[in-house]
Amino acid sequence: MITFHLITLFPESFESYLNASIVKRAKEKGAIAIKYYNPRDFTVSSKKNKEQSYADRRVDNRPYGGGPGMVIEALPIIKAIEKAVGQPASLKLRRTGKNKTTKGKKSVKIIFFSPSGKQFTNEIADSFKDSYTDIVFICGRYEGIDARVKKVFPMIDISVGPYVLTGGELPAMIMIDSITRRIPGVLGDTQSLEEERVASPDVYTRPELIEYKKKKYRVPKVLLEGNHKLIEEWKKERLDK
Ligand code: SAM
Repeated sequence: MITFHLITLFPESFESYLNASIVKRAKEKGAIAIKYYNPRDFTVSSKKNKEQSYADRRVDNRPYGGGPGMVIEALPIIKAIEKAVGQPASLKLRRTGKNKTTKGKKSVKIIFFSPSGKQFTNEIADSFKDSYTDIVFICGRYEGIDARVKKVFPMIDISVGPYVLTGGELPAMIMIDSITRRIPGVLGDTQSLEEERVASPDVYTRPELIEYKKKKYRVPKVLLEGNHKLIEEWKKERLDK
């Protein structure tokens, strides 16, 4: 089982996606577990903070060196990671090879999201699925998170693409989805991994002919004729286009 630990100021943003379809079924089957940690729970309990409502508990501050936006403080994040997976010294942070995790011992990977991080790929998803029992996602917001968390806990910077999002919540959901569907037994018989077969970007279903605004649209003939070799060739052609 892989446990995903989500460190986020907005746990509610995960509710709909992670409670539906394949990810929901993977949780029910015990293939994965998902836990949430809100950095607001780990703020210094100053008198001022105690008097404030939960949502107003401050975790961000002005950036050193100037510039726009706020930066999330390091300590609430460090304490949240510690709560999730223990202190840095007690962790086996990397596993040396396939299937070498000792039973009962955690093998932990910590992800720091950043648009300039290493591009997330199927290969990374596979290696994480094979290597770790616990994956921690630190979901940044605003201008990001104080970089000193990376000095306390070794971690990897990951990007989900060359664009800037508002926070690390969507990247975390992308990674959870992608890793989960690769765990053996999670996809049903009819839903084998796309990467292990030729999957066309264009697919068709019944009826064979549809009519819209007086125009007729047909399913490509090759898909109706039952010649699997020609169907595979057609799919490959569609992939190359
Ligand atoms: N200037 C910041 C930087 O370069 O990291 C951008 C901050 S962005 C508005 C807020 C947070 O969203 C980031 O700290 C990161 O956690 C997340 N984020 C935004 N785009 C991302 C991407 N393409 N991949 C991964 N995380 C991303």
